Amino acid sequence: PIIGEHMEFVTREIDIENFPLVDGEILVKNQYLSLDPYIRSKMRNPEIKANLSAYKIGEVLDGYGISIVVKSNNKNYQVGDYYYTHVPANAVSGIECLAKEISKYKVHESYFLGLLGMPGMTAYVGLNKIGKPVKGETIFISSALGAVGQVVGQLAKIKGLRVIGSAGDDSKIKYLNEELNFDGAFNYKTCNIDEKLKELCPNGIDIYFDNVGGEILDVVLNHLNNNGRVVSCGMISIYNFKTPYGIKNLFQVIKKRLLIQGFITSDHYQEIDLFIKEMGELIEQGKLKYKEDIVKGIQNAPEAFLNMLTGKNFGKVVVKIFK
Ligand code: NDP
Repeated sequence: PIIGEHMEFVTREIDIENFPLVDGEILVKNQYLSLDPYIRSKMRNPEIKANLSAYKIGEVLDGYGISIVVKSNNKNYQVGDYYYTHVPANAVSGIECLAKEISKYKVHESYFLGLLGMPGMTAYVGLNKIGKPVKGETIFISSALGAVGQVVGQLAKIKGLRVIGSAGDDSKIKYLNEELNFDGAFNYKTCNIDEKLKELCPNGIDIYFDNVGGEILDVVLNHLNNNGRVVSCGMISIYNFKTPYGIKNLFQVIKKRLLIQGFITSDHYQEIDLFIKEMGELIEQGKLKYKEDIVKGIQNAPEAFLNMLTGKNFGKVVVKIFK
C-alpha cells in the first residue's frame, strides 16, 4: 500500500465560521486535484537540481486544483466563487483570473485542470508555436489520448492536418479513431512502430508531437519529412530510467533539416487569456471534446497517480477530492 508505506493520509477539522482571515485573505475548500506527470519529477532526491523544486520528506504534496471559496475577506471573491491554483493553496496567486472564467463557460469546472488548464495550454503552445501546422500536413502524436495528446489531435484536425496517434491500449485506439476522428492510430505495445508509421503515414510525418521520448522518438526520426518539426513536450518513457535511452537515428536531424525544440508551458502563462478565449469559442461551437478519468476520493490519489504513469488511465486524470 502506498498510503502507510510511502505516504500518510491525515484529516483535520476546520471551523469555517470562526476561521480567522486577515484583510485580503480567502478560505477555500478544495474540490478537484489534477494529477500530472511533472509531479513525478518532484519526487526525487532534493540534492538533484531541476526546473521544479523537489518535494521535501513530510511535506504535503501539491498540484493544480479547483477550489471553492467558503469564506472571504477579499472584495474580489465571493463565497461560492471557484478558484484555480495549486492546492493546498496558501496565497492568492497570479492566475486567479481563471476563477472568473470558470463560471463563464458552460463546461465542467474540472476542465480547467485539463482542456482549459495547463495540459490544454501545453497542447496549444506546443502545436502552434513549435509545430507551426500547415493545412494538409501530417502530424503524429504519442500518448495521444492523454491530457495533452487528445487536445493536440483535435486542434490539428481543426487546422486541416492528417492526424495519427499512438497509445498503449486497444480501447484508447478505438476512442481515438471513432470518437476523436483521428485518421489513424495504433497500439505501440502490440504493433511494430516502424511498420505502422509506414502504413499510416505513407507521405511521411511533418510534425511529431512527442510526449514520450525514447524508442518511439527514435523510430519517428526515420519517418519525418524534410524540414519536419519535433515538438519535444515530454519524455515519460524515460522518467523512471536510471540510464538515458540512447537515440540512434539522430543523424536524420541534419540530413532532413529537422527542428527539435522543447518548451515549458509556464513560460507562456502571459497568453492564458487568449488561450482561454480561443479554446472557449471552439468548445461553444462543439468542436472540442475532452475525455476525463475522474477518480473519486483523495485516498485514491496515490494509486491513480501510479496508474497514470503506467497508462492505466483513460484520459485526463482528475481526483474529485470528496467522493
Ligand atoms: P498523459 O495523460 O498522457 O499520461 C501519461 C501517459 O503516458 C500514460 O497514460 C501512458 O499512456 C503514456 N506512457 C507511460 N509510459 C509510457 C512509455 N514507456 N512509452 C510510451 N507512453 C507511455 O500525460 P500528460 O498528457 O499530462 O503529459 C504528456 C507528456 O507531456 C508527459 O511526458 C509530460 O511530462 C509532458 N508535459 C510537458 C509539459 C511542458 O511544459 N513541456 C507540460 C505538461 C506535460 P499510453 O501508454 O496508454 O499511451
